[in-house]
Amino acid sequence: MQTAIKKVVILGGGTAGWMSAAMIKKLIGQAVEIELVESESIGTIGVGEATIPPIKLFNSVLGINEAEFIRETKATIKLGIKFENWKTQGERYFHSFGAAGRSLAFCQFHHLLKRAGQLDDDKHLWQYDLNFLMAEAGKFSPINSQDPTYDVPYAYHFDAGLYAAFLKRFSQKIGVKRTEGLVEHVKQNQITGFIECLMLKGGKEVSGDLFIDCSGFKGLLIQEKLSTGYEDWSHWLQCDRAIAVPSKRFEQTLNYTRSIAHPAGWQWRIPLQHRNGNGLVYSSKHYTDQQAQDILLSNLQSDTLGEPNLLRFATGRRKKQWNKNVVSIGLSSGFLEPLESTSIHLIQSAIIRLVHMFPHAGVNDSLINEFNKQSKLEFEQIRDFLILHYKVNERRDSLFWNDMRTMDIPDSLAHKIQIFKENGRLFREQNDLFQDSSWLQVMVGQGLIPNDYHPIANSIPTSQLMGMLEQVKTMKEKPIAALPSHDEFLAKLVKT
Ligand SMILES: Cc1cc2nc3c(=O)[nH]c(=O)nc-3n(C[C@H](O)[C@H](O)[C@H](O)COP(=O)(O)OP(=O)(O)OC[C@H]3O[C@@H](n4cnc5c(N)ncnc54)[C@H](O)[C@@H]3O)c2cc1C
Repeated sequence: MQTAIKKVVILGGGTAGWMSAAMIKKLIGQAVEIELVESESIGTIGVGEATIPPIKLFNSVLGINEAEFIRETKATIKLGIKFENWKTQGERYFHSFGAAGRSLAFCQFHHLLKRAGQLDDDKHLWQYDLNFLMAEAGKFSPINSQDPTYDVPYAYHFDAGLYAAFLKRFSQKIGVKRTEGLVEHVKQNQITGFIECLMLKGGKEVSGDLFIDCSGFKGLLIQEKLSTGYEDWSHWLQCDRAIAVPSKRFEQTLNYTRSIAHPAGWQWRIPLQHRNGNGLVYSSKHYTDQQAQDILLSNLQSDTLGEPNLLRFATGRRKKQWNKNVVSIGLSSGFLEPLESTSIHLIQSAIIRLVHMFPHAGVNDSLINEFNKQSKLEFEQIRDFLILHYKVNERRDSLFWNDMRTMDIPDSLAHKIQIFKENGRLFREQNDLFQDSSWLQVMVGQGLIPNDYHPIANSIPTSQLMGMLEQVKTMKEKPIAALPSHDEFLAKLVKT
């Protein structure tokens, strides 16, 4: 029997819990009561600092002022990710949030570059990309123009703990009830198996109609109580540990994330206003924890500001993100390593999906099945994009990179690689988070050069093509000189 949803209980007060509380209260708070339970004695995971551009939409729907957000979360601007040593040691490429050049009707820009002989190395593509040019110049400001040539998609690096605290204040102000307490038992309906209430240490009970499990990796409701199961992808994404440590910031604040490949993993460096966030993601089959820690600490280039924190994970996804009356959001729903900063985005998109499918009249299978179908596809598409970074490499210096290059990959990814390699064509799967421009940059950056290009690119005479490319480059370069530096931009914004 369906029960109308009058009360939503969120378990967990990490980034996932407070993002869920803020958005659900903001959008459907008139219809439902929301209570969030968290335990200070357990705490949050305490990592997660880089995001992707859709976070701006999330904040804007909440009505958050950008300057206040940047000030409160110690945020900086992120224009993309610089991948170093991924293709081979010493080589680097940029995955920009922007897109190179300008496409002709029905002809993507990279076909023109290929025809002009400019796609066969890693030098040219990015010269036509405004995000890259800004990143190289250390500058930033949104450009006020109606011309899409000057779009600068950006995201943030921020302190995820401060973001959760910011959203906690926000949520409580708009009416979310917060309960401090450790969940010790969970009461389930004997017939339906639905969760009925959380029983806290000390005897308090918190009951509800719909439960959002944001309890972190363990998935206290979705897994420990409902035994939903996990689809393990660690045979493809073999990194299973990370060591994180903050360090002193540098004089200049980079406007991009650095991702530096090592012989059995990769290191992130994320610039915040008050510190650098660092970590090494690695495969425990190929590095001991001590080796990983030594590599990380010897590659910081500034003093540490805390103790290294070891985190273990298994890459994969919960078999059903929504099971009975429990929707898992955040780490409880699955984990994909932070190579493309997608975890906070997965939280965001699960919340929006839940809002779209909110079961106001009662939980039913059609909503659950649709939600789970979309969630599965989203996780799989991101998974494929991450595997691409590992699979297409030319590193010959370690067993790890050799294992990556020779591993079997999902058919969906193999198809995408083949069609690009043989024909130069890119096709975006429906709803894929990553656009063609992202796939292109990572494919070319990792050394996957197409053999062919689309014949439409032949419709322009060669002399005209070269002139046109030069003109696009000049247009992209034009605004850079007058822009403020990233630090000047932040200083001005934080003061307002
Ligand atoms: C190494 C690493 C690097 C990452 N980097 C990035 C990144 O750059 N970008 C990005 O987008 N994401 C990143 N992430 C992911 C990001 O950290 C998480 O997605 C995000 O912090 C969400 O965590 P969470 O809220 O699901 O869980 P947690 O932060 O673990 O919160 C769990 C909550 O549940 C509560 N809880 C648990 N059990 C109980 C109980 N019994 N009773 C009461 N309360 C309970 C806890 O108190 C806590 O409030 C990274 C993750 C890892 C592991």
